[in-house]
Amino acid sequence: MIYIIVDLEATCWEGKALAPNEIIEIGAVCVDDSNRILGEFDVMVRPSICPILSEFCTQLTSITQADVENAPHFPKALQQFQDWIAQFEDSYWLCSWGFYDKKQFKQDCILHGLDTDWLKNHMSIKHQHPKISDGITARPLGMQGALKLEGFKLDGTHHRGIDDARNMTKIFRKYYGKWQF
Ligand code: AMP
Ligand code: MG
Repeated sequence: MIYIIVDLEATCWEGKALAPNEIIEIGAVCVDDSNRILGEFDVMVRPSICPILSEFCTQLTSITQADVENAPHFPKALQQFQDWIAQFEDSYWLCSWGFYDKKQFKQDCILHGLDTDWLKNHMSIKHQHPKISDGITARPLGMQGALKLEGFKLDGTHHRGIDDARNMTKIFRKYYGKWQF
């Protein structure tokens, strides 16, 4: 078994969304069943419905129009992600901070007519964290708050998929063996 700690960024707008949110970055870290990091993955994705990023989106994520302009569209980016996972092992769990990432993956798969079975094994680190973290928090926290309570630095840029994935991997590895699948 391997664990894919994954974080997505997507198109967004200040206030009401002007189009369906689409994935613009897939960032992930692979942890094996001995709690070792096997590798990292990061791909930018070119949105199809609304290819121009809002200023708000670039400010939030630090992802620029140039970053997504020549990036692959979702089907190709997802294939790269799935190939990256498959090089390690066939059996995996996707782990993310909350259920947003699974929902967004599903939405983009449906948009592009792609299979969603590969999302079946998913768990939310955020929602298990209060149960296994020795009373550190009684309720699910934002990732920034959880890192602080756990005594970890927020490295990199918050709201960048790869940096968010790396940061949540610290919490995942700290409680390795306690997560329920
Ligand atoms: P995160 O993993 O927290 O960086 O968020 C993932 C995605 O959720 C972002 O790329 C945005 O599309 C959306 N998002 C997060 N925070 C906000 C916000 N304050 N306003 C609008 N969209 C947001
Ligand atoms: Mg993020």
